[in-house]
Amino acid sequence: MKLIVAKSAGFCFGVKRAMELALDATRKYPAPLYTLGPLIHNPQAVDYLEKQGVRVKDRVEAISRGTLILRSHGVPLRDLEKAKKRRLRVVDATCPIVKRAHYYAKFLRRNGYLLLIVGDAEHPEVEAICSYLDQEVEVVESPKILERLGPWKKLGIIVQTTQSFGLFKEIVAASLEKSKEVRIFNTICQATTIRQKEAVEIAKKVESMIVVGGYNSANTQRLAAICRHVQPQTHHIETADELVPQWLLNKERIGLTAGASTPSWIIKEVEEEIYRLKGRKR
Ligand code: SF4
Repeated sequence: MKLIVAKSAGFCFGVKRAMELALDATRKYPAPLYTLGPLIHNPQAVDYLEKQGVRVKDRVEAISRGTLILRSHGVPLRDLEKAKKRRLRVVDATCPIVKRAHYYAKFLRRNGYLLLIVGDAEHPEVEAICSYLDQEVEVVESPKILERLGPWKKLGIIVQTTQSFGLFKEIVAASLEKSKEVRIFNTICQATTIRQKEAVEIAKKVESMIVVGGYNSANTQRLAAICRHVQPQTHHIETADELVPQWLLNKERIGLTAGASTPSWIIKEVEEEIYRLKGRKR
């Protein structure tokens, strides 16, 4: 049996940085410490943080004192203002690559472009970007939605950092019919592109593909969908104990990748479980 593990599997730079900043805060600052919503989209990593003293709250109103750690995909402006009013200490773990998307969104609005964000309107990163802008923003997640919008004089486009490049290209192509002037910034994170490309290459070579990551992680869901497109035998799991032996039955080539918020210890456990289920040694 050959197990191909993606080199790009697991924590990306932004998630690693957010985890380090959070753990660093537990050493530097007195309790209580909070994040607004989970710091990253992985329940096991969030449980680990909780054991270190970082608790999750859904609303700033539920926090009266202490330290608030901002998530890697950022927080809406209104929450930041509320935190300041409550005199909370703020540790900003927003990924610099997400901040770059904020910068381009503001730049395009400042220069009079109607802003189109390619992404999921309910994703916290997109919600946060929109909160810093006025109303002249549209969020689209398919070229179909674009059909009923516009036309506009000046159209500016950015994209949620974890979106697929294929979808971005489709929407950009469709947008060319909507405006004479279109200005585009590709704000997709390179880490996402590299991870997706590597996953597809592996999925093409194997008989069964395992994708590890939180069920609430959009980038893991997308990774699994992309892999499934080339290898229907793709399975998304959160932890090693969810592996189903039948998935590996009579399969000699197995692929493994993981989302940007999947801790390395979980990937290792899945690797070990695959070897165990196949009755092989590493
Ligand atoms: S996927 Fe990219 S943008 Fe998102 S947190 Fe990781 S490094 Fe930052």
